[in-house]
Amino acid sequence: MKIVIAGAGAMGSRFAIMLKRGGNDVTLIDGWPAHIEAIREHGLRANLNGEEIAVPFSIYSQNEIPTTVQADLILVFTKAMQLDQMMQTIKPMIGEQTKVLCLLNGIGHEDTIEKYVSTDKIFLGNTIWTADLIGPGNVRLFGDGSVELQNIEPGKEEDARQLAAVLADAGLNASYSENIRYSIYRKACVNGTLNGLCSILNVNIAQFGQTSTARAMVQTIVEEFAAVATHESVELDVSEVVHHIEETYDPEGIGMHYPSMYQDLINNHRKTEIDYINGAISRKGRKYQVPTPYCDFLTQMIHAKEDILAAE
Ligand code: NAD
Repeated sequence: MKIVIAGAGAMGSRFAIMLKRGGNDVTLIDGWPAHIEAIREHGLRANLNGEEIAVPFSIYSQNEIPTTVQADLILVFTKAMQLDQMMQTIKPMIGEQTKVLCLLNGIGHEDTIEKYVSTDKIFLGNTIWTADLIGPGNVRLFGDGSVELQNIEPGKEEDARQLAAVLADAGLNASYSENIRYSIYRKACVNGTLNGLCSILNVNIAQFGQTSTARAMVQTIVEEFAAVATHESVELDVSEVVHHIEETYDPEGIGMHYPSMYQDLINNHRKTEIDYINGAISRKGRKYQVPTPYCDFLTQMIHAKEDILAAE
């Protein structure tokens, strides 16, 4: 399959390497000049579960998008706030048959993608694979993961199953989901609590879990997500989701980790995806007339922190 990875950062690189090793024709699009240069010179280098590899790729910047390559599948892997610009950039690679798969964290990305591709070609998913970009053209890919995905338009189930099969054949442990919107909301609840709160409180997940107010804050935020989700026909099981979040506090599991937003914002002074997590709940809350004071406040606090740290 002819696959374009739109945003070849940490996650885009993981999927690119696995899909190419799985026999697909993979092209990369990215906007970081040093990254492009390194990949052109040495291939995309990766430490894949301890094995050092270098995989050659065709890679283009947004200023040199080829008009001759029309993708069967575009896999978008920018940060959420970069998605619109990326979709605009890759318009020449979108043909009649091109499908777009979005595995970004956060809520509501279909609204952005719909501006460029009809809904019968859009597929949404969730992934628990991880990846770290450690320098230009160089990624660290450890551990296992999975992907679940679904069509957003009824009647396109077979296309979604076929896409899942392409990813599964490449070792990405992908499956068709009967209710991807539930999974997306459930994962957004994890990000919508731990990401922002650990970043503001300057703690890892286990330390956050030990605070006397963790339960109350998590419960209230998940209730806000659930109240909004109901208006989109997603009925979150609040106590299950809270329990799922609390399971992450275990120091023997991922408790000692700092969430990705912490690493982006506090360590690297990068802007965050808050507007597509808690911020999305605030926007949808206004639309559905559901009060979301905790999500509103957390979004403002993270933006204030971005300002203080001059995040870019
Ligand atoms: P990243 O910042 O490493 O990669 C994004 C890439 O997109 C960068 O290389 C950037 O140069 C490129 N890019 C952005 N806008 C562009 C544009 N207009 N033109 C060209 N290139 C552009 O981000 P990531 O960590 O790979 O995360 C991608 C998404 O996956 C996010 O939604 C994140 O929350 C989600 N996610 C990440 C992980 C992880 O372990 N890193 C795990 C699960 C989900």
